[in-house]
Amino acid sequence: MPQVVDRDAESSAVTATPPDQQTIRDRLAAHLLELELLTPKNFEAVPAPAAMLELQAREHGFEDLVQRAQLILADVAGRRGDTVEQGRVAREVTFWAEQHGDDLLIARGHRLQAIFFRRLGDRAQGLSHAITGLRHSDTLPERLRCSQLVTVALLLDLNGQFQEADRRFAEALALAEKYDDPDQALTVLNNMAFTAYEKGDVATANELAGQIRAIGVEHDIALDGLYLDTLARIAFLQGRFEEAEAALQPVLDDPDGPLVSEGDSLPECLLTLAEIYSGTGRPAMAGEALDRAMAICDERGLDGVGSRVHRARAEWHAEAGRFREAYEEYRLFHARAERLHSAEREARAYAMQAVFQADEARRSSERFQALAYQDALTGLFNRRYADEHLAAAVATAQRGGEPLSVAVVDADHFKRINDQLSHAAGDAVLQELGALLNRFVTGKERAARLGGEEFLILLPGVGEAAARQRCEELADLVRTTDWSPLTGTLPVTVSVGVATWTAGPISAESLIGRADTSLYEAKRAGRDRVAATLL
Ligand code: GH3
Ligand code: MG
Ligand code: MG
Repeated sequence: MPQVVDRDAESSAVTATPPDQQTIRDRLAAHLLELELLTPKNFEAVPAPAAMLELQAREHGFEDLVQRAQLILADVAGRRGDTVEQGRVAREVTFWAEQHGDDLLIARGHRLQAIFFRRLGDRAQGLSHAITGLRHSDTLPERLRCSQLVTVALLLDLNGQFQEADRRFAEALALAEKYDDPDQALTVLNNMAFTAYEKGDVATANELAGQIRAIGVEHDIALDGLYLDTLARIAFLQGRFEEAEAALQPVLDDPDGPLVSEGDSLPECLLTLAEIYSGTGRPAMAGEALDRAMAICDERGLDGVGSRVHRARAEWHAEAGRFREAYEEYRLFHARAERLHSAEREARAYAMQAVFQADEARRSSERFQALAYQDALTGLFNRRYADEHLAAAVATAQRGGEPLSVAVVDADHFKRINDQLSHAAGDAVLQELGALLNRFVTGKERAARLGGEEFLILLPGVGEAAARQRCEELADLVRTTDWSPLTGTLPVTVSVGVATWTAGPISAESLIGRADTSLYEAKRAGRDRVAATLL
């Protein structure tokens, strides 16, 4: 009979979830959702509370919420420029989520990986992760699903699939409007409007610009510098110079204010403004705007916008016939663009390598773990795995209120096989039994060898009648298998004791103890049969 190690210390940590645990869980999850929605708008406000939530989730044993907090922190790390950390955590959390079938985390993990690859300039990989993330988004809160759609749309756009992108943007917008989330709607509209502007689709750009303004007015939201820049460019594209200039005024009035949340939005606005000045015959003012933009780019090390400012300055000189200066600016433009690209290349190579190394380390520890949980003779899971998995299954059953069955399977008169044939023949029969069990289990069922000629089958979510039926099937299968090549005329059969928990107090030990008692009954009643009990 199996001796089950004492797991009191562990099982007490995962016993029944009293209602206040559920309340705590709901509260933590609601806070996490708030932070997930806040991240794109104000990511610097996020890490401190996210770290607190991670601690609390860990304290209460909510591992999925721990992972969710870590994903939020990784998102912030990426926005702060730590691409490696972002990619590494995104991969690890996705891996955990896939092992645990946690759709929310699978969706969010892949989304962050999509953002990681987009940052590294790998659009194709980015798109593939974004789409996988979206595929797991059906059960997400609408507001998170909306952000999944936006990520997919942006990547479709980058991959040149404009129509598909528009379809996703439209879906995201409909969701944001349905759930009355004006901030999210503005994000979507701004992306749609900018895409239309870049394609030169004037009618659509105008229509979308109107919607952006309308939402700002309706919800009394002061439009961010990035949105105002989009509006200004759209107006400028159609020669509405005054309107374009007016659109940027709030940013220029308060360049250090809350409208300029992202590092490069002020120089972006100044670049647009310089174009407006140039286009309306005010070259001196255009030059001033470009100088200001340049100073900010130098100060903040913004090579991306910076190189575009050099190019604009070159054009500005050329228009005034100062070709020597224009040439000098072109050289600066090239040097800066080159610096940017090599820095990007370096960052990409470094990030890939760092993330890949983490992967390798994980893989080799997986291999090691797999060995530690495997029975050498049969290749089935071993006793250690059975103990740990049973404890986890008990905790899950209690949390979810689902039934849980365990069956102890013992070969009948096994001693005879050893004695009348040989120990080697006995080993061969055990190997065959192992293979048979391995083929027999499906879905969440797990088979393990407890030791000797004794095996365990875990049947999570399976009630009494169904568990008994599964065990009958197994006993039939063993009996009707042709063992003659191994044992000649000696039959091979098994007796099975199965115990099912549906409600009330429970521990791994009591469950397996009851299965053992049933097994004893099956043996006493003549072997080659199943005895079941309900806790
Ligand atoms: P019962 O129907 O009551 O279960 O009878 P049994 O003979 O199967 O049970 P018993 O516990 O008396 O004997 C089990 C035997 O299994 C004893 C042991 O020598 C043998 N055995 C245990 N582990 C191995 C193994 O790894 N290989 C082989 N060949 N035999 C093993
Ligand atoms: Mg035995
Ligand atoms: Mg036996």
